Amino acid sequence: MTHSKYTNQIVQTHQRSSRGGHQIKYFQLHHMASTDGPGVVRMMTSGAREVSANYAVYSDGTAVCVVDEDLRAWTSGTGVQDSEAITFEIANDNTAGWSVSPASHEKVAMIIADAAKRYGIPITRDRIYGHNEMTAKFGTSYATACPGGLNIDWIVNRANQITNGASASAAKETPLVATPAEINQIVKAIMDAPQPRMTTDGKSTGKFDNIGGVLRYEYSKYEALQKQLVDMQKQLAAQKTQTAEVSKKLDQVLTALTKK
Ligand SMILES: [Zn+2]
Repeated sequence: MTHSKYTNQIVQTHQRSSRGGHQIKYFQLHHMASTDGPGVVRMMTSGAREVSANYAVYSDGTAVCVVDEDLRAWTSGTGVQDSEAITFEIANDNTAGWSVSPASHEKVAMIIADAAKRYGIPITRDRIYGHNEMTAKFGTSYATACPGGLNIDWIVNRANQITNGASASAAKETPLVATPAEINQIVKAIMDAPQPRMTTDGKSTGKFDNIGGVLRYEYSKYEALQKQLVDMQKQLAAQKTQTAEVSKKLDQVLTALTKK
């Protein structure tokens, strides 16, 4: 079960087969000839048409892994080319010009950068091709306008940038998580930070304490106050008990007086 870390959804299909021992060497790019990404994924999974792709990418950049990378997707109808490639069906954002959104371009580049690293595929224009290049390149497939307005040169360039250290968009979206060691370092830095020591009327003494010391001092004052509060509560409870006893005695005396 292999898919890119940039996958947003996994939708399994039976419309797939084994790679038959072929090594993954290429990335094969198609446009959906549709703006309805989820609709095309339904077509890839419902049996309505014998088509599929390793990845379907929507115009908002959502990447759906439909066929696991370990398996051959039924994308171009040519066994060897599908077996040797990770294939993409990319949604159009406009049917008039068959354009493809910037978000889709970015996501395809991210997945290519990631997969190229995992399979040791060079990120070159030779290894990343569009459907309409297959006839000239392999003598397979047919004349087609696919992949529409997809800019493959841009994708090759961007995938190289990502590989060479430019951050991928998804990485920017990932929340930062500090390790416990980093958190300890930050806490120590805060605790050691100098804090100007002030007089009680708010004037600078020209001396410094570290914040940790100030915090510990303030906390000790807070603890002392809390202790006082607990003591006061105890005293109050004791007084209540006394009051109740006195009032009970008064009642007894009153009752005795009334009887006489
Ligand atoms: Zn195509």
